[in-house]
Amino acid sequence: MADGSKIEWTDVTWNPVRGCTKISPGCKHCYAERFAERFRGVQGHPYEQGFDLRLVPEKLMEPLEWRESRMVFVNSMSDLFQDDVPEDYIEAVCCVMVAARWHTFQVLTKRAARMRQLLSRKLRFAASAPNIWWGVSVEDRRHGLPRISELAASPARVRFLSVEPLLEDLGRIDLRGIHWVIVGGESGPGARPMKPEWVLSIREQCGEHAVPFFFKQWGGKRKSAAGRVLEGRTYDEFPETRTDGIPTLIERVLAVMSARKFSGPKLLMQFGT
Ligand code: SF4
Repeated sequence: MADGSKIEWTDVTWNPVRGCTKISPGCKHCYAERFAERFRGVQGHPYEQGFDLRLVPEKLMEPLEWRESRMVFVNSMSDLFQDDVPEDYIEAVCCVMVAARWHTFQVLTKRAARMRQLLSRKLRFAASAPNIWWGVSVEDRRHGLPRISELAASPARVRFLSVEPLLEDLGRIDLRGIHWVIVGGESGPGARPMKPEWVLSIREQCGEHAVPFFFKQWGGKRKSAAGRVLEGRTYDEFPETRTDGIPTLIERVLAVMSARKFSGPKLLMQFGT
């Protein structure tokens, strides 16, 4: 089964890859690293290898087993577009997402350049799928804004920004071609503060461009105490979801076959499913 998620903007997480390396200031207090490293060396635990990168092919077909339609955050404990994740493996992940069209998949990365390159060629079939949303993390101007440009230049059908942890005022953001914006402050030990005016600026810009706005949290050491109310209300907007209804057994079997066929004899088989 999937891990039910406490993340406000998704239903479940799916991690066909585990582990990652830090690449920008938003990674400083990476929750996934903190969680994974607690279990390093614990035999038989999914994070026995701590936060070291590893593929998890036995998880590849998991979404095809879920009968109810879900919002699925892909690789909450990793980044699918890290250099060391083979292209063929990323393609296999995409084959499953395309076949499991009754779910909405949310793919979020800090490796925006690699995502754009792959969506422009090898992964074109997945870029245009209405049930896959492609997003980039944006924590500051220097690292985050170039990722938005990469995302906008990609052929993704649905594009979103996860502006979390928001570390400074982003100024004017180019929201052309962006379909959803999530904003949140950092939480946990050592959390860096987020100023209300930074959030309000993004909310205003989303309003100007009619982009759905989701305010996830203020963050801080005790995130539940700080809550997620912004000027007297919560913001829980989403882009339009386009998924098929709940599949019959036959449809699920066909989807599994299609994932295998799509990927050809090599991919899903090669990765052990
Ligand atoms: S990219 Fe994401 S998962 Fe990877 S280290 Fe940074 S915050 Fe953690």
